[in-house]
Amino acid sequence: MRLRLTLPILLVLAFFATFQSHASDLALVGAKIYLSPSEPPIEIGTILVHSGRVLSVGPIAEIKVPRGTTVIDCKGLVVTAGFWNSHVHILLPGLLHAENLSSGQISSQLQQMLTRWGFTTVFDIASVLQNTNLIRHRIESGDVKGPRILSVGEPFWVKGGTPIYVKGFLEANHISIPEVESTAQAKERVRQQIGDGADGIKIFANSIERDEILTMPLDLAQVIVSEAHSAGKPVFAHVSNNQGIEVAIQSGVDILAHTTPSDELWSASFAQRLAAAHMALTPTLTLWDVESKKGNASPDDVEKGMSRAAQQLEAFSRAGGQVLFGTDVGYIQQFDTSEEFKWMSRAGMSFQEILASLTTNPAQRFGYSTRSGRIAKGLDADLVILSADPAQNSSAFSQVRYTIRGGQVIYAEK
Ligand SMILES: [Zn+2]
Repeated sequence: MRLRLTLPILLVLAFFATFQSHASDLALVGAKIYLSPSEPPIEIGTILVHSGRVLSVGPIAEIKVPRGTTVIDCKGLVVTAGFWNSHVHILLPGLLHAENLSSGQISSQLQQMLTRWGFTTVFDIASVLQNTNLIRHRIESGDVKGPRILSVGEPFWVKGGTPIYVKGFLEANHISIPEVESTAQAKERVRQQIGDGADGIKIFANSIERDEILTMPLDLAQVIVSEAHSAGKPVFAHVSNNQGIEVAIQSGVDILAHTTPSDELWSASFAQRLAAAHMALTPTLTLWDVESKKGNASPDDVEKGMSRAAQQLEAFSRAGGQVLFGTDVGYIQQFDTSEEFKWMSRAGMSFQEILASLTTNPAQRFGYSTRSGRIAKGLDADLVILSADPAQNSSAFSQVRYTIRGGQVIYAEK
């Protein structure tokens, strides 16, 4: 009697186990899919997601959607891997003092600034580490909807080098960021911040002050960079001029946080030096537009400054330098990314190059290539659904219909 019952039960269990292994939580059906910048797109395809990862991806005819799966109809839409913004700041009043903010308030601010634009991972390159840690903890626990946040925490600037344009903001928000007094103190602070969870370090190779631009001494930059590198962490440098770029190159900085439109244009050989130093660049072209308008520059001067920044990006990109999409959002409040894409195109960057700056380049640079940056079986289900094809017009990169992180919809257009 017992045996006769056991066999059917075993068969049912075996069947159920097989069924389970093919179950999926979410299916994106009918999209044009860009798997990565270098692979040809799937014209009409399906992506199945299970437990936060891509379970399978292929042409629509080859992927069967299991019963019970939530389906997003992607007919006429375009899917790419989730975007990275490698230059943001978790500093807006709507994100500071997060212990006093509700989940809804933080989610809403992160949505307006980041997830609504397709960002599933961001690198915060100056904020209050304790506050950013609290926000990312609330995101990872599921309390808040947001992107993966990597952070450098508090930046390093020389004595007297707190930038003029942040002094008022820091005071108004009761934030104090120490100025570096000595190499010994800098070294200790690098250790401390990395111990507290920082994923990188940011130096101000130049600090803009009222009447001058200060440059960080090379020996100080070298100590900070080598301490960060010995912990396996990348170093970003804010630069405003060629002197600052020299300090960045000679100290071994990994990422330039800006172009330098107020200094000389970048010659081909200068750009090749940057590329040979394995330097990456976040262009932040929108920042220059916002700042020069804030300073009441004439439309003609705004245009001149923008074309200088675009020339520098173009020289860097043509030299084979690694471009990481980055806008300085959180310092600027222009959340819309369309202008940045327009300027990247005007700097001669192709669709594939811009997509790489949003996906594969940052994933590679920051050690996430095995899980992020492409759409492939087993990788994180970090996906962006666009309403138009960015291969036709780069502004489509800003026309986001859904943002999905780890298989969860973290933004859906209303
Ligand atoms: Zn910035």
